[in-house]
Amino acid sequence: MSSATDTTVPNPSDHNQWYPFLDRPTPQQAGGQNPAVIPVTNVDPLPPAAAYVVVGAGIHGMSTAYHLAMALEKSGKGKGSDVVLIDKQGPGAGATGLACGCVRNLYMTGPLHSILRASVEVWESDPVNFGFQQVGYVSIGEANQEDDYIALNQSQVDSGYPSDLYIGAEAHSFLTNLWPDFKTANCDVVLHEHRSGYAGTHMAMWGLDQKCRQWGVRRVYGVTVAGYELDASGSVTAVQTDQGNIQCEQVVVGAGAWTPQHWEWLGGPSNLDVLYPDGHLEAGKDMWTYWRLLEGEVILPDGVDFRTAHHRDSPVLHVELMNTPVYGEDGSMIQDHVYTYLRYAAERVGVPGIQGGTIPIPIGPDANVEPYGHLNDAYQADDWFEEYYCATLGMLFKRFEGIRPYFKQRRNGGIGAFTPDNVPVFDHVADNAFVIADSNHGFKMIGVGKLTADMLVHGDKPWELKPFELRRYASGGTFGDRNSNCPWV
Ligand SMILES: Cc1cc2nc3c(=O)[nH]c(=O)nc-3n(C[C@H](O)[C@H](O)[C@H](O)COP(=O)(O)OP(=O)(O)OC[C@H]3O[C@@H](n4cnc5c(N)ncnc54)[C@H](O)[C@@H]3O)c2cc1C
Repeated sequence: MSSATDTTVPNPSDHNQWYPFLDRPTPQQAGGQNPAVIPVTNVDPLPPAAAYVVVGAGIHGMSTAYHLAMALEKSGKGKGSDVVLIDKQGPGAGATGLACGCVRNLYMTGPLHSILRASVEVWESDPVNFGFQQVGYVSIGEANQEDDYIALNQSQVDSGYPSDLYIGAEAHSFLTNLWPDFKTANCDVVLHEHRSGYAGTHMAMWGLDQKCRQWGVRRVYGVTVAGYELDASGSVTAVQTDQGNIQCEQVVVGAGAWTPQHWEWLGGPSNLDVLYPDGHLEAGKDMWTYWRLLEGEVILPDGVDFRTAHHRDSPVLHVELMNTPVYGEDGSMIQDHVYTYLRYAAERVGVPGIQGGTIPIPIGPDANVEPYGHLNDAYQADDWFEEYYCATLGMLFKRFEGIRPYFKQRRNGGIGAFTPDNVPVFDHVADNAFVIADSNHGFKMIGVGKLTADMLVHGDKPWELKPFELRRYASGGTFGDRNSNCPWV
C-alpha cells in the first residue's frame, strides 16, 4: 500500500493522475464508475425510513445534509440522524471532485450575487476545513463589457459582496501593480472581488464529510438510487435503491450531471416553452443540455511562480477579450477570442502549478454520463486546447511565455447538465422533492445547501432562492441577458 503523500508511486492506470487523498483507479478498477475523491469510511447501512433523504454527495448534497442536520439539532426540531445522505460512490464522485474550485461572483445575472454572498459566508465559516483560499478574484474585459462591469460591480456591492472597478488607465495600473509583467493590451475594464478565491475540491469534500459525521448525518455511500416511489398526487413516499426502498418525508436531489435522470423519475418536464423578458418565446426547448468542459493544468517551472508583486498568492484570474484573437506557434489563429482562467493549484497538480480552462462546448440533450469525468474517453479536452490555453497565458504574462512544454499531460475536463438559460434551477419538482440543479457552475454555491436546509427546517423559502424557480421560464423571467461568449458568466 503506497503512502497517500508519495508522488512517485507507479501509476498502473497510465493516466498520469495523482490526487492527494488516493490514487485514482481506472474505470475497470472502479467498476466503470468515477470513485469518491476521499477515503470512504464508517458508512451507515441504508435505513428503512428517514425524515429527510438527500441524494448525491457532491457540494450541494453534502452542504444540504450538513446544514440540515445542524439546523435540526440546534432548533430542537429533530436530530442529525433524521438526515440520510445517499451516494452511489461517495463524496466528490461527480463534478465536485474535479472542479477547478474557483469561487467568484462574476455573474451578469444579478440574483446570483446574493446566492454567492450566502455561499461565501459558508466558505468563510471554516476556511481551513473547506480548503478555502480567499485570495480574491480579478476579472478583465474589453471596452465592450464596460457597462456590464459597472452594473455588476454595483449589484455586488449592493448584495454585500464588495468589489472594486477599474477602467482604462486605472485598470492598467491596477494590473501592473499586482503583476509587474502583466501585458495590459485590450484589458480595458477590471473587477476585483475581495471575498472570492478558490477551494481545493478534495479538501472541501473532506471537510463537508467530517461535518456531516459530526452532526450525525447517516452517510450511506455505495448505494444507488434507482427511482422514486410517488403517490397519486406526485409526492415522494420512498426512494428506491439497489439495496431496497427507504421511506421518507422530504427529498433533496443534488445529482449534478445525473440530474436529468432524477428529474424524469420525479416527473419533471423534459421540454418546455421558454419565454424571455422581451416577449421572445422558444417553444419546446430541451430542459437539459449537456456541455463538456475544457480544462487543464500547467506545472510552474523552476523560478516561475504565480505570485503577486507583494509575494502573495495571486487572486484567481479570469480574462475574456471577445475581440482579441489567439494565435498558435505557427502563426495561425486558434480562436478569435481570449477566454481563459487560472488559479494556483499545487494541491491539484501535485507540484507548484496552475489549473484553468476556457469556454465549455455544448454536446446536446443526450450524453454518456458513465463513466463520469476524467474517466470518460469521449469528453476529454480537444487537441487544440493545450496550445490555446498556453498561448493565452503567454499573451497575458511575460513569465508564462513559452510555457507550453510544462502543460501537464493528463486527463481533464468533465461534463455537466445545463438548464435552458444556463442559470441554476433551485425548486421543488414534487411538493416534497427539492432539486438543486446548478447548471454546472455551482461548486462555488456551497450556500445553496444552507438556504435549502433553512427552508426545510423553518418552512419559508429564503428570498435568495426564489428567482431560481422553474416557473420563470413560463412567466417571462428567463435569464440569459449576458454579454459573454461563455454560458456561465
Ligand atoms: C471540469 C469542471 C470544472 C468546474 N469548475 C468549477 C469551478 O471552478 N467553480 C465552480 O463553481 N464550479 C465549477 N464546476 C461546476 C461544479 O463542479 C458543479 O456545478 C458542482 O460540483 C455540481 O455539484 P453537485 O453536488 O450538483 O453534483 P456532483 O458533484 O456531480 O455530485 C452528484 C453526486 O450524485 C451522485 N449520484 C448521481 N446519481 C445517483 C444515483 N442514482 N444514486 C446515488 N448517487 C447518485 C454521484 O455519484 C455524485 O457523487 C466545474 C465542473 C467541471 C466538470
